[in-house]
This record gives sequence, C-alpha cells and structure tokens, in this order.
Amino acid sequence: MNILKSVEEMKLWANEVHAQSHKLALVPTMGFLHAGHLSLVREAQERCTRVVVSIFVNPAQFAPGEDLATYPHDINGDVQKLRDMGVDAVFMPTTDIIYPKGFDTFISPDKLGDELCGASRPIHFKGVCTVVAILFRVTQCDSAIFGQKDYQQLQIIKRMNQDLHLGVDVIGMPIIRENDGLAMSSRNAYLSESERLQALCLSQSLEWAQRRVRDGETDIETLTNGIKQQIQAHPLATIDYVRLVDAQSLEAVENLQAPILCALAVHLGKTRLIDNRVLTPL
Ligand code: AMP
Repeated sequence: MNILKSVEEMKLWANEVHAQSHKLALVPTMGFLHAGHLSLVREAQERCTRVVVSIFVNPAQFAPGEDLATYPHDINGDVQKLRDMGVDAVFMPTTDIIYPKGFDTFISPDKLGDELCGASRPIHFKGVCTVVAILFRVTQCDSAIFGQKDYQQLQIIKRMNQDLHLGVDVIGMPIIRENDGLAMSSRNAYLSESERLQALCLSQSLEWAQRRVRDGETDIETLTNGIKQQIQAHPLATIDYVRLVDAQSLEAVENLQAPILCALAVHLGKTRLIDNRVLTPL
C-alpha cells in the first residue's frame, strides 16, 4: 500500500494510475477508522479499480473551542485496517501541506449550509468544502464516497461538485450502526459508559418517528415535539437541534408529503453526536 504524504507524491501516483487506464475512487476521512468508514472503502473498491483513502483532520472545519486538539487518532491502526482491505494508497498530508503559508482561498456553500449543523457550526462547511475541493483536485479522483451519516455534508458536496463542474461521481452510502442502533462515529470514543447508554436516544427517537409515520402521522410539529420529548427524557442529553426538512433542499416543510430528512444533533456531556433518517410517507 502506498503511503503518500505530499501533494507531489499524491499527484504523481494518481497520474500513474490514470496512465494505466484505472478509475480512481477517493474516500475522505479524518481517521480513527471504524466499520462505517470501511463500508465506504468497500464501495470504492466495487466502483473503481484503484482506491485512495485520505486521512486528514481538517482544522478549517473546527471552530475555536471544538475538539480539534483532542480528536481521536490511531494512525497505525488505520493503516493496518486499510492494508488488510487491500486499499491501494493512503494520502495523509500534514496541515502545512494542505494549508501552506499564505493560503487564502476558501469555498463556502450558500443556502444549503445555513441550517442544521451549519447553524450551530457556522464555519464548518466552509472548511469541509475547501478541503474536499482540494482533495478532489489533488487526488484527481473519478469517484468519491461519503456517508449519509453526514447527510447535510453530502448534499453540500454534491451541490459544490455540480456548481463548480468538478466532474467527480459523488456517492452517498447508508449509515452503519452498532448492534444497538448507535450510529458509528469516531467521536463515540469520547462517551462515558452512562453517556454511551443514553446516546441511544438519537437512533431510538428516529425509529419512533419512522413508526409514527408508518402509522399515518404527517404533522411535522407533532413528530418534532415527540422526538424532542424522547431525547429530553435522558438527563445526560442536551438537544442542539431536531429538524424535519425536505430531503433534497434541506428547507423547512409544512407537512410530510415528499421524503423528509429527520436530522438530530445532541450533546451527551461534552460530546456532540449527529444522526438522521429519511422518513418516507405512507
Ligand atoms: P469522518 O472521518 O467522521 O470525517 O468521516 C469520513 C466519512 O465517513 C464521511 O463521509 C462520513 O459521512 C462517513 N461516515 C462516518 N460515520 C459513518 C457511519 N456510521 N456510516 C457510514 N459512513 C460514515
């Protein structure tokens, strides 16, 4: 497996890959890999003959006071997992390589970045779009695989790819969960035992909402309030947001006619977790 650290090494390898008529898929990650990340790698391998996984904890998407400094890492473990899966290359640049002295150009989404996580983390998607555009260019990938766990991020990246004619096939993959339903996340490592138990309120309230919708409930306010009540019954959980929005535009909806994204962000102690589910009306 090729370990690529500089932009030059990455570009050189990508050129060789394309010279041999391979298709290259990129899986962007921040490392501390779990089965959710690995499901994206598997999809990348299905779609393309060469796969590069990037590992980069992107400072530009963390606001001051967020968990940039403590973000979990296990670079040796990550490399071993990717080697075991037969990944062709890992791109792991340092911050100075992605943001050299004098770096001054950022890409921001407009409306799609305003609500949900964009409202609580105002600079987050500016950092995400910028690094993803850099990764698309530097890796020269044909496809890029993202998780629906970060649903808003996926919509924003699809839009950026279209708007800026980046020419990448952007693929979204389902959320991989622990056996008890908790969405896998590198940040789950922060949870204490009691927080881990109460973190189930995210997936359980989404399941409750899906059941209510199957039973014929269409009122957005009833569903939103029901989810909030379920989460508020857990003393360690504090709601950041509970929103039901149009699954494409992410705009507010009055009632449940088209597929609706139900998106949650909840703090368990100091750890902010997100989860979502697309609710389809009867
Ligand atoms: P991260 O390392 O958290 O930045 O995530 C890298 C990629 O993995 C993103 O596209 C995430 O949406 C995706 N991802 C993270 N957790 C999961 C999960 N539980 N299931 C599927 N994809 C995930």
